[in-house]
Amino acid sequence: MILSGTSRVYGLLGDPVAHSLSPLMQNRAFQAHHIDAVYLPFHVFPDDLPVAVNGIRALNIAGVNVTIPHKEAVLPLLDKIDPEAKLIGAVNTIVNRDGVLIGHNTDASGFIRSLRQESKLTLEGCDVLLLGAGGACRAAAVGLALAGVKSIFITNRHLERAEKLIDDLIPHFPAVGFSAVSYDKDRYLQALSHVDLIVNATSIGLHGGKVNFLPLEYIKGSALIYDMIYSLSETTLIKDARSRRLHCTDGLGMLAAQGEDAFFLWTGVRLATGFMHKVLTE
Ligand code: NDP
Repeated sequence: MILSGTSRVYGLLGDPVAHSLSPLMQNRAFQAHHIDAVYLPFHVFPDDLPVAVNGIRALNIAGVNVTIPHKEAVLPLLDKIDPEAKLIGAVNTIVNRDGVLIGHNTDASGFIRSLRQESKLTLEGCDVLLLGAGGACRAAAVGLALAGVKSIFITNRHLERAEKLIDDLIPHFPAVGFSAVSYDKDRYLQALSHVDLIVNATSIGLHGGKVNFLPLEYIKGSALIYDMIYSLSETTLIKDARSRRLHCTDGLGMLAAQGEDAFFLWTGVRLATGFMHKVLTE
């Protein structure tokens, strides 16, 4: 990579950032398309976020991704928020248009594109169970509602967070049947046995743990299990699902697709389908 005085600078704001695969993905994409740009990790502590965001303007950084724990805190620091990001309540991509910082969320679009690419599931009219209630779950719920699913059940350790998420979304998606279900109730097992798609949007599994409130024996054979956790080896959930011959996929495709969508927002270049996924798996 040869940088010059005209090279454009992109980056990632997060705490931590050292584990991130985004620099690898984005720099490969710039190289492949002969774009004079570089993508750098910026380790930003929560108290420094306002200064860091002003730094984007001051240094004319062309765009950044935003990751944990800043995705929600960054919203009031921006000039404009894309409607989908506003609905999700989180921003993972900022575009700097001549000093105007615009917040987007490519987690929802990336999740839906990866689902469509990696499975034969018809999202329109299907029934879904989401595990979680954090930012990733909010993005999945919005993406799925926009894609036209029929119903979304949500379970979470702290059920009140799932209820709050549903209260926020119901006015925007009156045609979708939302319900919060506690995973220690029979109704949860009923939902589990009839849904077409189950999404683990909790952080369980990130360090090898098991989602112990997901009894796989109740899941119907045609359902898809989507584990948002990504790992170059199999997550425990994926391993267990495969051993039961259930359809399953992990979050690597979502990571790749949300990165492709951020790249498009910054450069206007639509990468070939699977470009980032190939970079990650190589
Ligand atoms: P948040 O911190 O916002 O939410 C974490 C969620 O996990 C909450 O619902 C929390 O429940 C639940 N949780 C955490 N620990 C436990 C536990 N021990 N038992 C039960 N529930 C638990 O994180 P995000 O929503 O931003 O991210 C969730 C996961 O999705 C992360 O692991 C992240 O890596 C992954 N992700 C993947 C992406 C991809 O591109 N593949 C993109 C974005 C996220 P509670 O509310 O009760 O605390």
